[in-house]
Amino acid sequence: MKIMKFGGTSVGKPDRMHQVAQLITKDEREPRIVVLSALSGTTNSLVAIGDAMAAGQRDQAKEAIDKLEAHYQSFIKELVKTDKAYAKAKSIVSEHFEFLNIILKISFSEALSKDILAQGELLSTKLFSVYLEEKGIDHMLLPALEFMTIDAQDEPQLSTIKVKLGRILQQNSDKKLFITQGYICRNSRGEVDNLKRGGSDYTASLVAAAVNASVCEIWTDIDGMHNNDPRIVKKTLPIEQLSFEEAAELAYFGAKILHPTCIWPAQQQKVPVKLLNTMQPEALGTTITQEAGSVGVKAVAAKDGIIVINIKSSRMLLAYGFLRKIFEVFEKYRTSIDMITTSEVAVSVTIDHGGNLTSIVKELEPFGTITVEDNNTIISVVGNEIAQTKDILSKLFEALIPIPVRMVSYGGSKHNVSMLVPSSYKTQTLQLLNKGLFGLE
Ligand code: ADP
Ligand code: ASP
Ligand code: MG
Repeated sequence: MKIMKFGGTSVGKPDRMHQVAQLITKDEREPRIVVLSALSGTTNSLVAIGDAMAAGQRDQAKEAIDKLEAHYQSFIKELVKTDKAYAKAKSIVSEHFEFLNIILKISFSEALSKDILAQGELLSTKLFSVYLEEKGIDHMLLPALEFMTIDAQDEPQLSTIKVKLGRILQQNSDKKLFITQGYICRNSRGEVDNLKRGGSDYTASLVAAAVNASVCEIWTDIDGMHNNDPRIVKKTLPIEQLSFEEAAELAYFGAKILHPTCIWPAQQQKVPVKLLNTMQPEALGTTITQEAGSVGVKAVAAKDGIIVINIKSSRMLLAYGFLRKIFEVFEKYRTSIDMITTSEVAVSVTIDHGGNLTSIVKELEPFGTITVEDNNTIISVVGNEIAQTKDILSKLFEALIPIPVRMVSYGGSKHNVSMLVPSSYKTQTLQLLNKGLFGLE
């Protein structure tokens, strides 16, 4: 079994969907599960619709629903040719937009907002299925809501997914092509939920692990993982080979091409992951496996929205158990720490969301003087055995002479050196590292 995931831009135009149909039927030796995202821009619009409803701005929400519906109406005109297929596509669009219009009339809740967000992937897969049917391509729609589940901690349950998906596939063992929704799932209460923004990659990796796939292909709008963020730095190059650890660090520390936690399922089952370009299918892309390929720095990535919490206390001097007490506060509020630096009298930790910041600070106050700094960015330099690579630190710090680096984390992992900088310095930092580490300008 092979998994092929196509992101928003890969299905965002009728022509692109046509091309996806070609890509998934090019090599039919193996059965395939195709995971689709919503059409590009759709999830952003659905988020805006939900936000407007939550704020009681129904007119604004209605306007956004109508605008999105008009987009789909024109999309299907170009997607299919026959009257029969067009009528089918039209009734799918009507059904989903009627649903959004009904939601508009009832009182808003968190659970409803998840239902709104699910419409994008439901629409893209159903419309794609109509197109495949029109082309006479035999396939089956696999409803993700029947097998993709998360537990009470919002963590996907791989063993349950495996059993549920395995059963459906077994019942349909004559089929060679399956289409399913990325991103959407059911939570422990049985409600519609999702795997967070960019979560279709996660779906693909979970499905790949659940069926022990031969490969998990992530098809997107760029020819693989680049050495730096192409949205910020002009000259970047694709990386041919990454280890699971390197890819996971890059994804977690901001390389948007992959969902932050999508690597672990594939890694657990040792399923190779390939990052490929839908617009340039012949390009090599990036292969992610157990092996790292080469030693040294591979890429840098940036993660914004980082908050630093400083705890300063002379009581820390020669005391033990101090860090444990601090960590317990973060554990209580289910807030993970990304970076930490300590001295004899102070600890600084970083977190990536301030949801429970006020409560955390309040509970930390008995331990010392607490200060909080927001608007920071973690810049991560990722590679293989970089802690052992001789001149990495000198190159790094030489490149960053003009940057007020606030924290450095080195040695915790063999694959990562992270620095914290004020977000206003992010672009300059990425550019300087592109030159200093990769000789690219
Ligand atoms: P999809 O819709 O296919 O999931 P995304 O927009 O989520 O695609 O991810 C692809 C985008 O990730 C690229 O267009 C690129 O701008 C961005 N990106 C950020 N950092 C990197 C990187 N290091 N390498 C490649 N792409 C990156
Ligand atoms: N459609 C969802 C999003 O835009 C999931 C994804 O594209 O991966 O976040
Ligand atoms: Mg994505």
